[in-house]
Amino acid sequence: MKLLARARPEILALQPYSSARMEAGAGAIMLNANESPWPPVGTDIPLDNDASALNRYPDPQPRALRERLAQLYGVASDELLVGRGSDEAIDLLVRAFCSEGRDAIVISPPTFGMYAVAARTQGAAVIEVPLAKGFELDGDAVLARVTDNTKLVFVCTPNNPTGALAPLTAIAKLALALRDRALVVVDEAYLEFAQGATSAAELIARQDNIAVLRTLSKAYALAGARVGTLIAHAQIVALLRRIQAPYPLPTSCVDAALAALAPSAVEEVRVRIRMLVRERERVARALAAAAAVLDVYPSSANFLCVRFADAAATYRALLAIGIIVRDVSRYAQLAGCLRITIGAPDENDALLRALARQEAAA
Ligand SMILES: *Cc1c(COP(=O)(O)O)cnc(C)c1O
Repeated sequence: MKLLARARPEILALQPYSSARMEAGAGAIMLNANESPWPPVGTDIPLDNDASALNRYPDPQPRALRERLAQLYGVASDELLVGRGSDEAIDLLVRAFCSEGRDAIVISPPTFGMYAVAARTQGAAVIEVPLAKGFELDGDAVLARVTDNTKLVFVCTPNNPTGALAPLTAIAKLALALRDRALVVVDEAYLEFAQGATSAAELIARQDNIAVLRTLSKAYALAGARVGTLIAHAQIVALLRRIQAPYPLPTSCVDAALAALAPSAVEEVRVRIRMLVRERERVARALAAAAAVLDVYPSSANFLCVRFADAAATYRALLAIGIIVRDVSRYAQLAGCLRITIGAPDENDALLRALARQEAAA
C-alpha cells in the first residue's frame, strides 16, 4: 500500500504504547494492569470477570462490537477502527498524515467544521474549495488545488449543513486521480437518511486511498455514547491504532452500542429512519410554502438547510418559545440560512406552528 508512505515519518517509526490489555487477554486471576480486584463501590451491575466489569480496563477494540459493526457496514472487521465518535477518527487521520507547518487538507465549504479545527490544531493548512452551484462537490476544482503536500481530502456526504449527497462516481473519480498521493475521507455520518444511497466503503477494495467515517450518533440515537467507526484499508487502520488512546471506548458505551445493534433494535432503527425521512419531506413542503422562507434545499440527511427572508428574526422568534435551531448564516454561501433538525412529528408540528404565528404577526 503506497499511500502509507504519505503518513508522517515519525508516526511510521513510532514504537506504539503497548497496554496490559493488548499484551495479554483474560485469565482467572488478573494481576497485570493495576486494576482494583473488586467492582466499583455502590454499583449493582458488574460481576467481576464479566466483559462488562467496570473495574477492568476495556478491550481496546472490542471484538463483539467490531464484528457487529463490520456486519452492519458490510466490511471486514480488520478494515474497521472503532473510537470515540467520528470526531476522534478525524483527529487521528490528521495527526497521522499531516506534518505541522508543511502539509494540508482540502475541505469543500460550507461543510462540517471539525475537519478544519483538527487540521489547525495540528498546524496543517486548510485549503478551501467551495461547493459548486446546488452545493455540489466540485471534483475538478479540488484536484486543481491539490499539491504534493496535500494529504487528506474531506468529502462530507450527505453534507452537513447543506444536506446534499455527493455521487459515488464523483468520489471514485477523485480517489482515482489522487491514488497513492492523498486519502479521500468520506464522512457518511448521515448516510442512513439518504435512502437508497450506497456507502463509499464498497470502493475501498479497489481504491485503497478511500476512508469512510460512520457513526452511531445520529440514526442510532447514541450521540451520548460516542461511538464512531472508521472504515479503511487494514494498513490505514493499523497506522491509526498506533496513535489512538489505549482504551478509547468506555465499557458502558460498548454495552450501549451492542444493545442498539441487536438485530431487533436495528429493525426498529430502520422504522425510525423511514419516519424521519417522511417527516423531512413533510416539513420541507410546509416550509417551502411559508412566506418567510426563500429556499428549502434538498436534503438526504435528518435536517433541512433553509434560507429565510430574515433568519435572525426567525431564530429569535423560535428561541423565545424554546425551539432551538442552528444558525448557519455565517457560513460561506449560507447567508440567511438556518439548519433545522427533523424531530419527532409533534416537535416538527410545533416548529411549523411557530413559523405560521411569526408570519401572522409580521
Ligand atoms: C455529527 C457529525 C459527526 C460527528 O460524529 P460523532 O461520531 O458524534 O463524533 C461527524 N461528521 C459530521 C458531518 C457530523 O455532522
